[in-house]
Amino acid sequence: MNMENPREQIDEVPFFEKEPVASSENFEVHYDQEAEENIPEGLESKLEEVKDLVDRMLDLDERTDKTKIYLFSNKEQYQRHIKDHDLPKGEATFDTEAGAILILVGEREKGEFLGGIAHEMAHFNPFFGGVGNDPERSKWEQEMVCNFVGNQIGVEFGDKEINNRKLLVAKEELSRIKKFSWREKEYDWENFLALEVLVYPWLEKRYGMKKLQGLWGKLFKERQNLASSIKDIYKQELPELEREFAADILKAETYKDFME
Ligand SMILES: [Zn+2]
Repeated sequence: MNMENPREQIDEVPFFEKEPVASSENFEVHYDQEAEENIPEGLESKLEEVKDLVDRMLDLDERTDKTKIYLFSNKEQYQRHIKDHDLPKGEATFDTEAGAILILVGEREKGEFLGGIAHEMAHFNPFFGGVGNDPERSKWEQEMVCNFVGNQIGVEFGDKEINNRKLLVAKEELSRIKKFSWREKEYDWENFLALEVLVYPWLEKRYGMKKLQGLWGKLFKERQNLASSIKDIYKQELPELEREFAADILKAETYKDFME
């Protein structure tokens, strides 16, 4: 994968005008008329703000080329496009070769929509350089980073209740399955448990953001596996942390309890 100059392989999305509707330092935004009502005011400056937060969370100050953002209002067009281009599934996705983030805006709340873009921005980020779309390794760990980032942005820009809902789902799931581990599921990395999206937030509240960034560095820059990265950064064995994590989830009534 050529991360250095993805702009050389632009593949325009055919349903949009060639000229962007809006443009800012780091983004070119394309959308159609129907999508307009779902777009928050001052989208360009919000996107810049979101990018700043994402880069800070990933501890990244690398310069990147402008990212194209395509906001789809039509579900069929969106699905056909991601299928034809073999892009990762979901209501938001990214196209490394085109240098683009694509998102189905439809019925999304405005905050959720920015959270969704932040999630894809994180996938798209050079932080994941070697991992990128590579299906071989660390997809689970990467997905959890993007969840962590997207969730924080979603809360920041709108949906304050999202974390309480996540905690409830996690509690239910945990009481149903009893036993779990944070490891990547070889058979299907996308099929992670709802409670696993709480792993990084939990590590952050316990040990702080610097350590969490250190963990990501081990995983994505040094390419260590999860258990040895955990051991290096937190000086604990993975199963031990997994048990403490589960106990904290079961104990908490609300997300606020969980984070105390
Ligand atoms: Zn993702």
